[in-house]
Amino acid sequence: MEEENDLKTIGTAQVIQGEKTRGYLQVGSDTDGSAFQIPVLVASGKEDGPTIWVQGCIHGEEYGGAASIIRFFQELDLSQVRGTFVGVPVTNPPSFKARSRISPLDGANLNRIFPGDPKGTYSQRLAHVLLTTVQENADYVIDLHSGGIGAEVPFYMICKYDESAAAKKSFWLAERMGSDVIWRSAGEAGTGGTGTAHTVKSGIPTVTVECGGGNVTEEHERLFKFSIKNAMKALDMLPGEAPVQKEYTVINKADFLFTGEGGLFVPACKVGDVLNKGDLIGSIMNLYGDITEEIHCPLDNAYIAATGHRYWPTEPGQLIAEAIPVESKK
Ligand SMILES: [Zn+2]
Repeated sequence: MEEENDLKTIGTAQVIQGEKTRGYLQVGSDTDGSAFQIPVLVASGKEDGPTIWVQGCIHGEEYGGAASIIRFFQELDLSQVRGTFVGVPVTNPPSFKARSRISPLDGANLNRIFPGDPKGTYSQRLAHVLLTTVQENADYVIDLHSGGIGAEVPFYMICKYDESAAAKKSFWLAERMGSDVIWRSAGEAGTGGTGTAHTVKSGIPTVTVECGGGNVTEEHERLFKFSIKNAMKALDMLPGEAPVQKEYTVINKADFLFTGEGGLFVPACKVGDVLNKGDLIGSIMNLYGDITEEIHCPLDNAYIAATGHRYWPTEPGQLIAEAIPVESKK
């Protein structure tokens, strides 16, 4: 009689019911030959259930998600968990070390090059390993982002929009994660190479969480953890009711606004405001104190989904704000 082999691992981390374990994914090596190891945290409940994969720092300067995954894992009471939580605080170590959106190794924005290539540059290999590991292990994916170092975003959810069952389930999940703003991202423009586009294409419901930027406040950490906990409640992985709201602001078709002049950015609105065409978003001040440029909202009824930080040093051609039309109230 054969012995049943039910040893399951994610990277080197063993999945053991009723235990918190740790390990890493290994992807390629650095210039000095040392291995890149991507820490993985696994918390498996005593009861069988789905596997939720929560990742941060696909953009290395968006470290609020990383910290929140670590804290969430530490605070998670395993006796309450059904299924398995997998946390990957920093999916992109070179980019994290450089505190940069792009990788210093090959200049790639990891979240634009999925599905990657096992024979490509470091970032392409990384994309390939991440996607295949998620496809082999995850039933749901939560991808944590922020405005990065120079910008701030409000707390909102993003999901891909198409007619697939995975996209519909993603929206269902987004409605239960604690924000009343959901960006329903249709089409491939600019988003075709994201990891989330590919996980949804693989049939895995996926929600991106946006929150904060720059310093990680206690409120940012609270909101990130709140969204993960709510997703797990919605999926019956934790006890309790997920907070379904009466109404959602659904946004779509973002307008990305770039500076024409360099200088200090002076915001004139708050992220999360809804502005109309012509309203002032902010201005650029040079080092003599002169206002050299005003950035106005290009659309009516537009949700301001990002702006630069107050007095953020800005070069010409830098992304400084996102204005996204309110598509519907659902
Ligand atoms: Zn990001």
